[in-house]
Amino acid sequence: MFPGRVLGIGAFEVMEILAEAQRMERRGERVIHLEIGEPDFPTPARVVEEACRAMRQGDTHYTDARGTRELRCAIAEHLSTTLGVDADPSREVLVTGGVSLGLLFVLASLLEPGDEVLIADPGYPCYPNFIRFFGARPVRLRLQRDGSLCLEELKERLGGRTRAVLINTPANPTGTYLTEKELRAVCELASEVKAWVISDEIYSGLIYDGERSPSVLQTGYERAVMLDGFSKLYAMTGWRLGYLVAPWQLAVQVLKLQQNFYISPSSFAQRAAIAALSLREEVEEMKRQFDRRRRYLIARLRSMDGFRLTHEPKAAYYAFPDVSEISRDSAKLARYLLHSAGVAVTPGAAFGEAGEGHVRISYAASLESIAEGMDRIEAAVESWDDGC
Ligand code: PLP
Repeated sequence: MFPGRVLGIGAFEVMEILAEAQRMERRGERVIHLEIGEPDFPTPARVVEEACRAMRQGDTHYTDARGTRELRCAIAEHLSTTLGVDADPSREVLVTGGVSLGLLFVLASLLEPGDEVLIADPGYPCYPNFIRFFGARPVRLRLQRDGSLCLEELKERLGGRTRAVLINTPANPTGTYLTEKELRAVCELASEVKAWVISDEIYSGLIYDGERSPSVLQTGYERAVMLDGFSKLYAMTGWRLGYLVAPWQLAVQVLKLQQNFYISPSSFAQRAAIAALSLREEVEEMKRQFDRRRRYLIARLRSMDGFRLTHEPKAAYYAFPDVSEISRDSAKLARYLLHSAGVAVTPGAAFGEAGEGHVRISYAASLESIAEGMDRIEAAVESWDDGC
């Protein structure tokens, strides 16, 4: 009745857990949300005000499908200051409906049925669905215990059918990021089979030992695509705005798709995004708070039996402890924690086979919520019976 390409797509598990938690809340139960992948902060006031001003000034129409010239120039300027790379705002920069739609159109422009795309395991759960939607095949690369990419394995899996390597740096759910040297190595290997390197850098600004994570753009690789956006660093998930930088040959294909399937990104959201790019203190303050929560969560996890951090999360806002001593069935454990402790976390299995035996705990929640959530988890795990 419905096409296989749609029926083959499973629900986004994080959303399922959120929906179950919300059902419990409607019944009057209190749930602590440590499953969510979005900042709990409101969008900074200056950004909201700029959007309101834009609307009042009548900036409420379609824009250029590439995004407004002002925003593309601001993005190019931002990339030049933060990364030292030159991107041509007329031909190589496109404003997108979040990284999500940008990625959809990039993959739509590149993939033929039967192509292979290499992705990390564990990794962002939506990637395999994007890839399969175009009749291509996701090939998973098992990350090492410390969350790093095994270049040997990458080399082995690259072949004649590999169309692209899709990396996510900093990564959801591991909270690790690739060094510039690793990015260069990935591109060098990909170049041997003329594969594209698509780099989802949506968490680029959220690293806690520096300003910004290294970008694939710094490698100068001719088949590199970088996607980033406003959702995470600027607490703008609901604005649905991102951008990509791609060689113009690919960018024109993506642009055709934007024109046909989307027309243009939101006009006033783009005005607001220009204001977002100029924020300094507000962003630093959000990062400081994330970092405080991160350090607290790491300390708590290290003190708890059964939760093993195989590496320290140093980016994004997720910890991904190994809980296999408690249970090898992460979905069952997550359901138990939700129903018996009122704490929502995401089962590691949602991120791929290698994620099983882990849970993802988000620290995009207040320190008080994290503290109470961890107290509740600690107590609930004591009465956990894996056989029940
Ligand atoms: N990429 C990754 C790795 C993510 O974790 C998410 C959201 O959680 C997205 C992309 C979605 O980004 P956007 O809001 O820009 O569509």
